[in-house]
Amino acid sequence: MAPIAETEKVTLMEAFERIAAGDATAGFCVPPFDTSAMDGFAVKSADFSDAASLKNGLKLDIIGELAAGATLKFHVTSGKAVKIMTGAPLPEGADAILMKELCEETKTENEWHLKTVSPIRAGQHVRTVGTDFKKGDVIIPRGSFLNPAAIGLLASAAIAEILVYKTPVVAVLSTGDELIDPLEPAAREKGFVPGPGKIMNSNLYLLASLLRSSGARPHLLGMAKDTPEGISRKILEGSGAADIIITTGGASVGSYDYIPEALKLAGFEVNIWKMNMKPGRPFIFGIKNENQRMKMVFGLPGNPASSMVSFLKIIRPVIYKLCGRAAPLETLRVKGAINSEVRLDPERLTFLRARIYEDGGRTMIDVPKKQDSNILSSALRLNCLAEIPSGKGTLPEGSEVFAQII
Ligand code: AMP
Ligand code: MG
Repeated sequence: MAPIAETEKVTLMEAFERIAAGDATAGFCVPPFDTSAMDGFAVKSADFSDAASLKNGLKLDIIGELAAGATLKFHVTSGKAVKIMTGAPLPEGADAILMKELCEETKTENEWHLKTVSPIRAGQHVRTVGTDFKKGDVIIPRGSFLNPAAIGLLASAAIAEILVYKTPVVAVLSTGDELIDPLEPAAREKGFVPGPGKIMNSNLYLLASLLRSSGARPHLLGMAKDTPEGISRKILEGSGAADIIITTGGASVGSYDYIPEALKLAGFEVNIWKMNMKPGRPFIFGIKNENQRMKMVFGLPGNPASSMVSFLKIIRPVIYKLCGRAAPLETLRVKGAINSEVRLDPERLTFLRARIYEDGGRTMIDVPKKQDSNILSSALRLNCLAEIPSGKGTLPEGSEVFAQII
């Protein structure tokens, strides 16, 4: 699967959290000139080479002053210094900056000089031209996620506009006769509680937010009742608006699990998988070529925690790839000690919604007790998925496991 081919030019302020669609190359060096890194005096380091005379105090005449942004020209010769501020260009002849705090400055009507006993080495407190990047350097390679540093880099290289990939649209559909949309007028009335047998459609909004945080734009298809025809109609609507459609619910093998049937009705080739993971065992994948475009449907389980974990483990890398990210499969896994005992699943690898933290230099993983797939509250403070291998019995408190940082 290729990233979406479409690109667009955006300005610096719109580029944040987008993906670069081309290499950004520097048109000049940064820093553009040798710069003082301190407030002090630009000097010749050779004047400091005689340790004995330095011990008695070295006296240098000050010939002028340079502030940041100054364009004045000075030539520093032996025995001379130029007063200089952080960010000002290093004057010709000087090769080091003596910090203001290390000398005594005297200024009278007819005399301006400094005295110091401090040694100095060539290059001290000087920022050399091009040490951040050089003219012609690729400062942001194609496929980079444009984080705050990237935006700063572009600004420092005077790149006001950048080519980025267009944000992919992903359609989302919730299925289930029991669902009520939290945005529908009746649900927004004061004191509302769901009627008998009903629950709120949390998945739609959960997934829409997961998509947004992954760099995609959600297209909400809303809800469909548990009928193959109704679901199929919504899927067709979704494939008109997006190349990827995510559905929730109806993906297991229960009597009202109509996703496979609905997909077939909509002309998709259907794969029904059982993932060896907990939560998120059922997973349906539908694929169809529609007017030379590949349309894909990911059918997730209805329980919110299952759909969240399935999304993070399986769908997010696909979205990253679609967004044009250079390393869609890159994840960070670290080892930490679980802070309570965990029951093992005899067959499946379990992903626990967890929080990794540091305690006195030790990496710990807080694993909330409530891990049933219908429970979302324990995911509120989630910053990782702890990976619990399958096995018999329990894993004792303090055991080291991997956790994938989310
Ligand atoms: P299903 O996958 O349709 O068998 O649903 C599994 C469980 O998830 C059931 O308890 C459903 O009520 C619940 N569920 C299904 N869809 C949603 C949804 N959109 N939001 C919250 N819970 C859901
Ligand atoms: Mg259902």
